[in-house]
Amino acid sequence: MNDLQDLYREVILDHNRTPRNFGELEDANRVVEGVNPLCGDRITLYVKIDGDTVEDISFTGTGCAISVASSSLMTERVRGISRQDNLNLFNKVHDMLTANDYDSRKADDLEKLAALSGVREYPTRIKCASLAWHALKNALTDSSDNVSTE
Ligand code: ZN
Repeated sequence: MNDLQDLYREVILDHNRTPRNFGELEDANRVVEGVNPLCGDRITLYVKIDGDTVEDISFTGTGCAISVASSSLMTERVRGISRQDNLNLFNKVHDMLTANDYDSRKADDLEKLAALSGVREYPTRIKCASLAWHALKNALTDSSDNVSTE
């Protein structure tokens, strides 16, 4: 364990213990369910999109520490950001979680989200970390309302 991994672990534990933006959003105009059957993670993402911007976002659900922390970190990051910037962010996070030859220097501008990079070492956890992001992408691209990692 080096210091960076300790820091990442602390961020995950903190966001699992005290999830940010947890609860329903009454004026959401997109509500997306996400499930990860492999682990039993289940989230509902509430998004209020105003024009081209994610005006507000929250989530509810139950799951493992990684899925809850990832949802919490995601909702903290994407508010006030345009659809396209969020889709770019989705791609960066997805790359960080799954790319074989990922260069960790690319995680620099992901700031706190880089804490999720630890799951790269645990392939069964990648879907836990990506669930909320797939739900976000779905909310932004107006496809169906349900996301499954299967
Ligand atoms: Zn999980």
